[in-house]
Amino acid sequence: MSRFLSNKFDRLVPYTPGEQPKNAKYIKLNTNESPYPPTDRACRYAADAATELNLYPDPELSELTSSLAVKLGVEPDELLLTNGSDEILDFAFGAFCDAEHPATFPDITYGFYEVFAERNLVPFEKIPLDGDLNIKVDDYIGIGKNIFIANPNAPTGILLPICAIERIVRSNPNNIVVIDEAYIDFGGESCIPLTKKYDNLIVTGTFSKSRSMAGARLGFGVACKQLTTDLNMLKYSTNPYNVNRMTAATALGMLEDEQIIRERCNEIIDCREYTSNALTALGFTLTSSRANFVFARHKALGGKYLYDELRRRGILVRRFDLPRIEDYLRITVGSRDDMKILIRELTEIMGGANK
Ligand SMILES: *Cc1c(COP(=O)(O)O)cnc(C)c1O
Repeated sequence: MSRFLSNKFDRLVPYTPGEQPKNAKYIKLNTNESPYPPTDRACRYAADAATELNLYPDPELSELTSSLAVKLGVEPDELLLTNGSDEILDFAFGAFCDAEHPATFPDITYGFYEVFAERNLVPFEKIPLDGDLNIKVDDYIGIGKNIFIANPNAPTGILLPICAIERIVRSNPNNIVVIDEAYIDFGGESCIPLTKKYDNLIVTGTFSKSRSMAGARLGFGVACKQLTTDLNMLKYSTNPYNVNRMTAATALGMLEDEQIIRERCNEIIDCREYTSNALTALGFTLTSSRANFVFARHKALGGKYLYDELRRRGILVRRFDLPRIEDYLRITVGSRDDMKILIRELTEIMGGANK
């Protein structure tokens, strides 16, 4: 750190991303990426867009915005595209939270919420999950703070029903509720339709997980027009060209291939069930995940031990060194072949540990 860093960042601890190894020697099950590449069509569109990279992108991203708006069933001015959904989450902290409007979120959730709060100098309160790692909905009723909830939650994968989200939104009419739907395509129901009914709801989504575009960075937010206007103010005060041409073109291709994406999501869901059953048979207990990962802990072996053993055998998973979840592994549901290797290696580890 230099002697020039502003002391306003004294308490800022940056987000630690999952490891991105430089070589291919690992089976990567640690950052919830899709095992599938973008579709052929999407790659073709990206290649075409590369020939126009001398030109700035359309700051309004009109074509992609209308295409996605149709798919989501909203008006184009109720939708805002960003550089990953991390960016729109950051905009939401920046636009709506301050000392008079603190933020609140579960104690176990996407680690970036706390980082965004600190970076935007926003006071925040973390609300504990219950003993089974569920969000206690009643704790958020009429809380009078801006609320950030991932649904399904991360890293548990547990999904709240729409009626629970609606209760939270309805009971906090003078605060913003942000529902982060990064994993909604793996068996959840989106609460985007509620944005028509409530002027305090923002739903965010991403092309990183179900749409195979983590490397391209595209996220979005849906809300009433007044809220998107505020969020756009931050976009145009930060980086009007936040989504680049190749990303926008790739996304257009992925939207045209919606059928393929749906089939891939179904395959991931099947594979999640296969993985969950195999892990249960090996003595793991799992949360009920509706995401493209499972969250599992073993009845006898610690999380750190399992993480290290898997890594030594060429499999990267994610583990959080936090109270209550330190013995859990968050394992991305990858291809079926990768999951078979995972189960094979875990079976061997169990065998070795029993000797
Ligand atoms: C992955 C993830 C995101 C953001 O991903 P982007 O790649 O920035 O779109 C947001 N929220 C949760 C809970 C995530 O897991």
